[in-house]
Amino acid sequence: RAGVLGGGLTLDYEPDLDAGVARRFRLSRDLYHALQRDEIGVVFQTQVELATGRVVGAEALARWTRPDGQVIPPGEFIAIAEANGLIVPLGLRILRQACAAQRTLVAAGFRLTLAVNVSPRQLARAEFAQEAAACCKAFAVDPRTIELEITESIAVEHHKSARGVLDRLKEMGFPLAIDDFGTGYSSLTLLQALHPAKLKIDRSFVTPLGDPGSDTSITEMMVRLGQRMKIQVLAEGVETQRQAVWLREQGCHLAQGFLFARPEPLDALVARLGSR
Ligand code: C2E
Ligand code: MG
Ligand code: MG
Ligand code: MG
Repeated sequence: RAGVLGGGLTLDYEPDLDAGVARRFRLSRDLYHALQRDEIGVVFQTQVELATGRVVGAEALARWTRPDGQVIPPGEFIAIAEANGLIVPLGLRILRQACAAQRTLVAAGFRLTLAVNVSPRQLARAEFAQEAAACCKAFAVDPRTIELEITESIAVEHHKSARGVLDRLKEMGFPLAIDDFGTGYSSLTLLQALHPAKLKIDRSFVTPLGDPGSDTSITEMMVRLGQRMKIQVLAEGVETQRQAVWLREQGCHLAQGFLFARPEPLDALVARLGSR
């Protein structure tokens, strides 16, 4: 396509670039209405203890379901929400949904830790700790059962402002988890400073496990590090039995991945837990 500028001048532009920009612009605009219309919900992916196969937790993952039924994955809208600031109300909404789910699970007799992803922009606000505590209180949920996942690279970037908030959250009893461990920078510095309850080994270090000839030394080191620091280690994105066996033999505590369960709505999770 070409745009006529007048005076016989035409301007050609790249249709691909234009489509991408237009799509992000539309998503950014629609996100505001989606929030108002409650179109963003959560699904849960279980976390299992490798030694026993027991389900000990689940991670809440955001899903945007449009009125026409189209589901937009978080990879497409979380970054936009971070950029336009909507992540603050959106993140709180997700935390609230996780607390509501925890209340349902506890009432049904299930004891799970529910993990919620928290963005840097949320942690940059001093009010976040109080809001998170109020959220738990509103649903009569113990903060010790709501784990907050932060990404290392991002947490480091906002270290100064986020640090106080993270310390307060810890004091209030919220367990902290470092997400996508190994992919950011200064991860070891953050581990030292924060001493989180859990580190989640990024999927990129889990995928090659069990492949003949693959170098597993870094993954081994991450498991050892967790053991030495008494930090729980969870492997993300476990898809095969070979990966699970390798991790269990190394002494990795926990795993999450398609091998065990896909992210699913709360009622499906409750039904599956009940049938075990
Ligand atoms: P994450 O926190 O690292 O979540 C794990 C992602 O890996 C999820 O993608 C999950 O569906 C996917 N996954 C789990 N097991 C497997 C597996 O065995 N194989 C493969 N290939 N993938 C697996 P999802 O749900 O698309 O979320 C993507 C990212 O979006 C999340 O990565 C997280 O960073 C972000 N995100 C999701 N929900 C939220 C939220 O409520 N708030 C914030 N701030 N970020 C969120
Ligand atoms: Mg996560
Ligand atoms: Mg992760
Ligand atoms: Mg990841």
